[in-house]
Amino acid sequence: MTTTASSLRHETLRIAGEHVETRERIDVTYPYTGEVIGTIGKATLEDVRRAYRIARSYKSRLTRYERYQILMRAGEIIASRLDEISRLITLESGLCRKDSLYEVGRASDVLLFAANQALVDDGQVFSCDLTHHGKSRKVYTLREPLQGVITAITPFNHPLNQVIHKIAPAIATNNRTVLKPSEKTPFTAYVLADILYEAGLPPEMLSVVSGDPREICDEMLTSDDVDLVTFTGGVPIGKYIAGKAVYKRQILELGGNDPIIVMEDADIEEAATLAASGSYKNSGQRCTAIKRMLVHASVADRFVDLLVEKTQALKYGDPMDPDVDMGTVIDEEAAIYFETVVNEAIAAGATLRCGNVRKGALYSPTVLDNVTLDMRVAREETFGPVSPVIRFGSIEEAIRLSNGTAFGLSSSICTNRLDYITRFISELNVGSVNIREVPGYRLELTPFGGIKDSGLGYKEGVLEAMKSFTNTKTYSLPW
Ligand code: NAD
Repeated sequence: MTTTASSLRHETLRIAGEHVETRERIDVTYPYTGEVIGTIGKATLEDVRRAYRIARSYKSRLTRYERYQILMRAGEIIASRLDEISRLITLESGLCRKDSLYEVGRASDVLLFAANQALVDDGQVFSCDLTHHGKSRKVYTLREPLQGVITAITPFNHPLNQVIHKIAPAIATNNRTVLKPSEKTPFTAYVLADILYEAGLPPEMLSVVSGDPREICDEMLTSDDVDLVTFTGGVPIGKYIAGKAVYKRQILELGGNDPIIVMEDADIEEAATLAASGSYKNSGQRCTAIKRMLVHASVADRFVDLLVEKTQALKYGDPMDPDVDMGTVIDEEAAIYFETVVNEAIAAGATLRCGNVRKGALYSPTVLDNVTLDMRVAREETFGPVSPVIRFGSIEEAIRLSNGTAFGLSSSICTNRLDYITRFISELNVGSVNIREVPGYRLELTPFGGIKDSGLGYKEGVLEAMKSFTNTKTYSLPW
């Protein structure tokens, strides 16, 4: 698919549902061709302040059933526009159609879980006659939406799913949100907002703004109208937010450097299949992508051969081609970075087995053997389709290597030995351990998030997000 000037898309801000024009605009490009595919509004500080003022002064009275209905209806609308939304994701991100179709499916799951969870009252009851000085009373708990507004800031890598993981739990808990999607992939967020309004969401409950982060983000982090900041993105900005959004609740989902650990007893064919899909899906741009492959030396040669075979079997290229398995990365600058760290590793002694070919933002899936943890390609987060293989000799070494970076998001373990499995579960410093599955495996409902530089340990996933987005009030009655 090519774009022409006549198909350029222009999105205005959505302040409480109103389309607000701005004096200045920001270009959005298609990473595959580099052409401008449209523009978005560039909000001023006054636009942002107005969005918060409206949100702050609105109190949603939607019943649980009404919230359920809005979320379910939004899911139906998304399903009916699956193809169009998937194309839009592909266009703004360069992710291939297989990836963008999968993403739209995930978004429907998020809506389904959030809708159903909106029906659940998890209030608790405590009898007070439990001790010798007890009383004939009961204490009850009640969840309330936040007094102030939620600020949601999202990254480029899943233009729909990252956004919906913040918005759906906010709606399910009757909160009001001001969202700032990534300026690299903003269109899908605007489409989602319109779908939610169409599904019956009171417009005051959601505003979407975009602009120059250096101009508008401090207001989004420090405004008195804000109670909570939920952010998904890289470590530098996550830590900036941690220092800036003082006395706000903070949910920070940051980077990862997830390993797959392949033990000597593993099914090597299965391990190589998991490694390839965990490394290249979404062009390697998942916080939970496999970014290091730690392989027992006794099986490493076979593993690497199989991995190279699977890597070369992958079709990469034109993101709009429905048969392509991997599109571009987000932009040429990112692709150049991968090329640079891979070349650095080769110069330091790593062996290039395949890939490391770049054309604009298209970067081929790449296998590097004989990598060591001191190389940048393994130590830092390489947010792209690179598979660095590090060989080890014992489980102690595997655990040390795995824990040897600043990150602690997720992990994948290939073994059938229960003694190994129990040690990995207890000794890896991460948020999740997936046995014989990719690190990114989860339900949209289940708790998700990392520790160390990957996050503060407060989880996302529909259920946990709904807990974070509420205050628990207790009340007691004579009984
Ligand atoms: P990024 O940190 O560059 O940007 C994320 C968002 O922050 C964008 O919307 C950006 O506009 C905004 N931003 C920029 N400056 C800001 C400021 N001063 N204050 C507040 N916000 C500001 O991240 P990215 O490049 O879009 O995404 C890639 C990163 O996201 C990777 O590190 C990846 O691991 C991480 N990520 C983490 C998870 C997770 O759940 N842990 C999931 C997906 C992606």
